[in-house]
Amino acid sequence: MNKTVPEFFLNRLNEAYGENLSNKIIDGYVSSRKVTLRVNTLKATKEEVIKAFNDNNIIYQEVDFYNDAFIIDNVKENDLWKLDIYNEGKIYLQSLSSMLPPLFLDIDESSHILDMAAAPGGKTTQMAALTSNKACITACELNPLRAEKLKHNVEKLGATRTNVMVKDARQLDEFMRFNKILLDAPCSGSGTLDLTNEKTFIYFTDKLIEKSTKAQLALIKKGLQILSKGGTMIYSTCSILPSENEEILKQILKTGKVKIEPIEIKTSLPLELLPTTLEGVICVKPNEYFEGFFVSKLIKL
Ligand code: SAM
Repeated sequence: MNKTVPEFFLNRLNEAYGENLSNKIIDGYVSSRKVTLRVNTLKATKEEVIKAFNDNNIIYQEVDFYNDAFIIDNVKENDLWKLDIYNEGKIYLQSLSSMLPPLFLDIDESSHILDMAAAPGGKTTQMAALTSNKACITACELNPLRAEKLKHNVEKLGATRTNVMVKDARQLDEFMRFNKILLDAPCSGSGTLDLTNEKTFIYFTDKLIEKSTKAQLALIKKGLQILSKGGTMIYSTCSILPSENEEILKQILKTGKVKIEPIEIKTSLPLELLPTTLEGVICVKPNEYFEGFFVSKLIKL
């Protein structure tokens, strides 16, 4: 595999992590990451899914930090597409890193949840499952085509208390109030680069990083405006660049209206964390099990 990245990105990585670690990060953009999924507990039990795995000779591992998640050892994603449990919305293919943000949002059945940037709906439907469809979820998405995919997944997975809103979340009415907000922000995707795809660096440019940081800042400002006092926000991205993560948070922390609630994750899986310039946040290094990902938890004061 060609493991080179463009100079602008290498410079950004070196600046953030130094040369040694940057090289290890680039090695972590492996060509095939483990297939992972979660049971959609709105439609199936874990036992039912395990039975389907056994009936189809699928070898799996359980995930110690999330009871509903599995790592699949012997088949690819497109093999799973043929299974009834997939077609009936009983499982959802989702990376392990991407399952983390909802787990830290402390949601329960009485929560009023806003998912600010929701398509295709992996985390929206995960939150619906975590609250047994009792919490009221508003899932906002700017891109109409992606919103269709979100609606499709919400319906397929049976997330019946989820309301999809096709809207620019930056324009949400300032009088709205939610006590739990997930901002899984649009980003450059620097944690999930596919170095085998020639087109990767057509889309992944310095301009994209700059554009993403502007959108991230505007979105987090709006999110904090409509978060209730004492409410919780998860800010996450699938980028490992501090400019899209800690630097955004630092600008928000300056207002004095928000604090970071430290998060940590314990697992026996090979989870590697990158150093961060803020305490209590998590930046996952890409490897065979995990995509590069950033997660932080904020409380509005
Ligand atoms: N949370 C999703 C999931 O788990 O499936 C993935 C979200 S993806 C990282 C970011 C999404 O934000 C994209 O679908 C993008 O179209 C959407 N988006 C970008 N700008 C937005 C905005 N201003 N308002 C709402 N959605 C936006």
